[in-house]
Amino acid sequence: MGIADNYARIQERIAEACSKAGRSAESVQVMAVSKTHPAEAIAEAYAAGLRIFGENRVQEFQQKRAAIADLKDARFHLIGNLQSNKSAKAAEIFDAVDTVDSLKIAQRLNDAAGALGKKLAVLIEIKLSSEPTKHGIVPELVSPLLEEAVSGLPHLEFRGLMTVPPYFNEPERARPYFNRLRKLRDGLAEEFPEFALRELSMGMSHDFEVAIAEGSTCVRIGTALFGKRG
Ligand SMILES: *Cc1c(COP(=O)(O)O)cnc(C)c1O
Repeated sequence: MGIADNYARIQERIAEACSKAGRSAESVQVMAVSKTHPAEAIAEAYAAGLRIFGENRVQEFQQKRAAIADLKDARFHLIGNLQSNKSAKAAEIFDAVDTVDSLKIAQRLNDAAGALGKKLAVLIEIKLSSEPTKHGIVPELVSPLLEEAVSGLPHLEFRGLMTVPPYFNEPERARPYFNRLRKLRDGLAEEFPEFALRELSMGMSHDFEVAIAEGSTCVRIGTALFGKRG
């Protein structure tokens, strides 16, 4: 099965999950998570109609970038943990950073975006479990970060939240995490009307239907689209 066939099946599943949830299928974007896959796979996904791509590492994407420079309206998001010494590079090569998890990172991205004369779209990554392998900011610290952003981070455009719940074989078990992210977003959107905090990036290959039922606006799909990572 090629990427186009996989994408068609994912779209069918999204349409069904949306219909069950009383949502329009257009309210959910598909991000193609192309990490570890070569630039050719990105081009193939683009040809199949995908336009939003997620990469985990600054350096890996930098190496693929030249080969896909002609995919004009493709947008590339950083969805992996960002170290502050890579933030200037990230602000330069990505259209969006979905893993802002501290004020320090936000400030570095803001300064780099300002120097480039660009406005960088960002999501705040939220840590909802105590697993040491999970990144993100704890929910209690998001509000102080956004307070700082109101006046101090003019080159960032805060669009919403992102999370990676613990892995469960049973996708239903991820539901409480998705539900919590949505409630957190709803509260923050009310607290900070100056930002349009619409986005909820949640749901991956094995649990995106549950995430859609809980309000996901962007599902991040790797394996179900490109096959297993080597
Ligand atoms: C790898 C990755 C994905 C995609 O995972 P699949 O299970 O392959 O769909 C989504 N989000 C993040 C943050 C990832 O690192």
